[in-house]
Amino acid sequence: MFNLILFGPPGSGKGTQAKLMEEKFGFLHISTGDLFRSEIGNETPLGLMAMEHMKKGELVPDEITIGMLQNKVNEYPEVSGIIFDGFPRTIAQAESLDKFLSEKEMSISLLISLEVEDGEIERRILKRGETSGRPDDNDVSIIRNRINVYRAETSPVFDFYAEQNKSVSINGIGSIDDIFSAISEEIKTHS
Ligand code: ADP
Repeated sequence: MFNLILFGPPGSGKGTQAKLMEEKFGFLHISTGDLFRSEIGNETPLGLMAMEHMKKGELVPDEITIGMLQNKVNEYPEVSGIIFDGFPRTIAQAESLDKFLSEKEMSISLLISLEVEDGEIERRILKRGETSGRPDDNDVSIIRNRINVYRAETSPVFDFYAEQNKSVSINGIGSIDDIFSAISEEIKTHS
């Protein structure tokens, strides 16, 4: 079982790469952002709670996010691998993920971080906002807040897995195919 954390700032291309990986390796792709947007679309109580945080570019509280993630993993006991996209985003989420997996005699295999600098992130997200319909993609101050939250709360997760010798960085600027090749190499090396 190969469990990959696809890591990097908002707009770094995680969703794009995860889709390619899903096709090539047959792994289950779990995006917490997509799960929240689906809950919002269905107007569930969880979705309404999440929306209050997402629209400001803040993180959804850990207790909501962790429970939702665990339910999703538990739905697919037969998969050969999981791509975690957008999770864990805090040290508390990382600690709970490790504990949750170890109770199933599983663990994280690798964390791949897509490195993209702030100016490029801002440009990409604004461009995505032209078509994504996502309210958090349209407003520069919300985008900047998401980047700040990433640097302050999420980037320590890279070091958390680096201490377990599981973190690698990849340049997130380049063609989609080249970045995908670099990711595929890392997966092969570590499986
Ligand atoms: P992006 O990475 O491009 O910002 P996502 O779709 O991954 O987009 O996430 C959108 C929003 O959903 C985040 O800004 C945050 O509010 C919320 N979210 C997603 N994943 C998490 C998480 N693991 N913990 C807390 N909030 C999350």
